[in-house]
Amino acid sequence: MQTIALLPGDGIGPEIIDEAVKVLKAVEAKYDLKFQFKKSLVGGASADIYGTPLTEDTVALCKDCDAILFGAVGGPKWDKLPKEFRPEQAILGLRKSLGLYANLRSVILFNALSDASPIKKEIIGEELDIMIVRELTGGLYFGKPKGIERTHDKTRAFDTMEYTDEEIKRVARIAFETAQRRQKRLTSVDKANVLETSRLWRTIVTDMAADYPDVKLCHMYVDNCSMQLVLNPGQFDVILTENTFGDILSDEASVLTGSIGMLPSASIGDGKPYLYEPIHGSAPDIAGSGKANPIACILSVAMMLEYSFGAKDAASAIKNAVERALNEGYRTFDIQVGAKKVVSTSEMGDIIVENL
Ligand code: ATP
Ligand code: MG
Repeated sequence: MQTIALLPGDGIGPEIIDEAVKVLKAVEAKYDLKFQFKKSLVGGASADIYGTPLTEDTVALCKDCDAILFGAVGGPKWDKLPKEFRPEQAILGLRKSLGLYANLRSVILFNALSDASPIKKEIIGEELDIMIVRELTGGLYFGKPKGIERTHDKTRAFDTMEYTDEEIKRVARIAFETAQRRQKRLTSVDKANVLETSRLWRTIVTDMAADYPDVKLCHMYVDNCSMQLVLNPGQFDVILTENTFGDILSDEASVLTGSIGMLPSASIGDGKPYLYEPIHGSAPDIAGSGKANPIACILSVAMMLEYSFGAKDAASAIKNAVERALNEGYRTFDIQVGAKKVVSTSEMGDIIVENL
């Protein structure tokens, strides 16, 4: 029996989580799995009732579970709250309390959606299947060496980029192991011609390569990588990079897949539970209208089955069921190109379940 924490959150979060749960229930019997679900409020939904976007009870509930499925948080209703009460603090708080230092984003362009990608088929080539491994809890967004806070006044501002060898090693290990399970090609992305943190990053990753002789490692500067993602995305298998570069590159890469509503992610650390979530936000503009694409959330469930429960067959079955729905011409409202039948969020969930 596997216990899964469900944190639907705000906006379209609850709608897409419902579809992902349908899919989990559909694979249960067929793949000899048994799930127990525990639901909790996060984000604005939690702030409205408990006065905080992430309660201690929710953190405790998550720590007790085998995996977490997170929807999305935020919306205009809560934009004016002071920073520590804003919905986004829920996901930041969870990453921190659970020690989730690596974010894996799967960037797959399904054949049926190749016309929806802004990059031409001839450029993408046979297949686009990239895994971006982004360091998630260090770097510029968090750096405060010697306790100096990031700050600004009217004439001067500074942020600090800091990485330790341990922070680099633990995320690099995940990237090497991920590459071993895939095409065995790893591109480590840095800016070692300018940044000290990148020089340390490159040295450590290079040294570690000796432990993974089957993985072909190469290094690329981040400016070149952002260009290569558009010029020749098919060259990449696994990309490893630090927090800020990963934030930017993964948004860039997501566009290649045809819609932000297609991309799943996993955030992992040293021990369970890992957290799974679509990369998109709470999309308040379409909440409640049946227009949300549930596929990013459903593919996040496939990642959960593979990474947390070792159920690779069930994970592949879900990916195939999604692919078949797309091949049959079903689309949600976010993807109009090539759509034969535009369906609602829950209809898309039903079609994927039928295909399973
Ligand atoms: P966040 O700051 O939480 O990441 P964001 O401002 O980046 O949020 P999103 O909520 O991701 O924005 O939405 C960006 C746009 O993409 C919106 O127009 C939204 O409707 C659309 N969108 C996001 N997710 C989906 C989805 N699953 N299906 C359809 N459209 C979506
Ligand atoms: Mg966003």
